[in-house]
Amino acid sequence: MNILVDLGSSAELTSSESEILTLARQLADGGVVSVLTHVPAEDGFVSAVGEYGVGRVLAPEKAAEDLSATDTALLEAAVDAASATLVLGPSTADVTEWFGRLSVRRGAAVITDAVALAEDQTVTKSVLAGSYTTTVRPQTDLVFITVKPNSLDAEKAESASTPQVQALEASGSRPAARITGSSPKPVSNRPGLTEARVVVAGGRGLDGDFSLVEQLADELGGAVGASRAATDAGWIDHSAQVGQTGVTVSPQLYVSVGISGAIQQRAGMQTSKVIVAVNKDEDAQVFEIADFGVVGDLNTVLPQAIEELKRRKA
Ligand SMILES: Cc1cc2nc3c(=O)[nH]c(=O)nc-3n(C[C@H](O)[C@H](O)[C@H](O)COP(=O)(O)OP(=O)(O)OC[C@H]3O[C@@H](n4cnc5c(N)ncnc54)[C@H](O)[C@@H]3O)c2cc1C
Repeated sequence: MNILVDLGSSAELTSSESEILTLARQLADGGVVSVLTHVPAEDGFVSAVGEYGVGRVLAPEKAAEDLSATDTALLEAAVDAASATLVLGPSTADVTEWFGRLSVRRGAAVITDAVALAEDQTVTKSVLAGSYTTTVRPQTDLVFITVKPNSLDAEKAESASTPQVQALEASGSRPAARITGSSPKPVSNRPGLTEARVVVAGGRGLDGDFSLVEQLADELGGAVGASRAATDAGWIDHSAQVGQTGVTVSPQLYVSVGISGAIQQRAGMQTSKVIVAVNKDEDAQVFEIADFGVVGDLNTVLPQAIEELKRRKA
């Protein structure tokens, strides 16, 4: 099977993208894995994807100045150039939109937010705010699937490949919008929230002070998340909100601090591998899904946890 992996505008390979390349190699079973990047392919990017056994990199010669329509046309050109029957990509807003647009045009199935994908293309995903885990199997010859971060372990190929780089042209597309300005994201030393292997999230119980949550996150090399109560109160940026109307995370470890565990919060974190909850109310809903629970005041529990981590590192 020939598989195309759309890595969006990625110039450097992230951990979740490495996971998707690993999945593609496992499923290809002798077929070619091609990668589409929507920006010109740098040598470092090409050799990084080569470590995952990618056979071909498809890329435009220059970055597009327009939004949306160009990207979907580029994806269509890549699907044809790769003779792909399965197209995989990360569960980002951009890739999900391009997959949706092209799947309609090509009469193909599209499945978003997969957490597992079997050889027979049976996809596992969670739906309805995480209340159900479903399995679905597409019935079309061409299939688009987005995969959630931290769904599997990334593993490099036994021997690295030297991908062939092929220039792509997105012809016949009209711009859907024009970029008139952009500003870079503030730089943070912490990992991205949706990518992080550890997330420490705080809620209303923090009473406005995220410093203990931030310290614990830094000791664990993790990202900082929050409940909607905390973001609505303006204690932390809305981009940190985890849940039904925030981001969905699936880290190896999710530490929930001063969060009650309402269904809308659970929808964004309940597929985490290990959940640790700190809450002073022993009847808090979060303990229903926690693997480990600490009943206590976070202002007493967190400093001890931070001290112990520091002591073990020393
Ligand atoms: C349509 C809709 C969408 C929503 N989307 C989201 C979403 O995406 N994400 C989200 O999080 N919520 C969402 N919500 C809101 C959700 O229903 C809850 O109101 C919210 O998650 C509550 O946040 P919280 O747990 O921080 O606050 P609370 O429910 O007030 O809980 C605070 C917790 O902190 C504990 N606590 C207090 N002090 C301490 C202390 N000193 N030490 C230890 N524990 C302490 C308390 O015992 C309590 O359990 C949504 C709601 C709706 C209606």
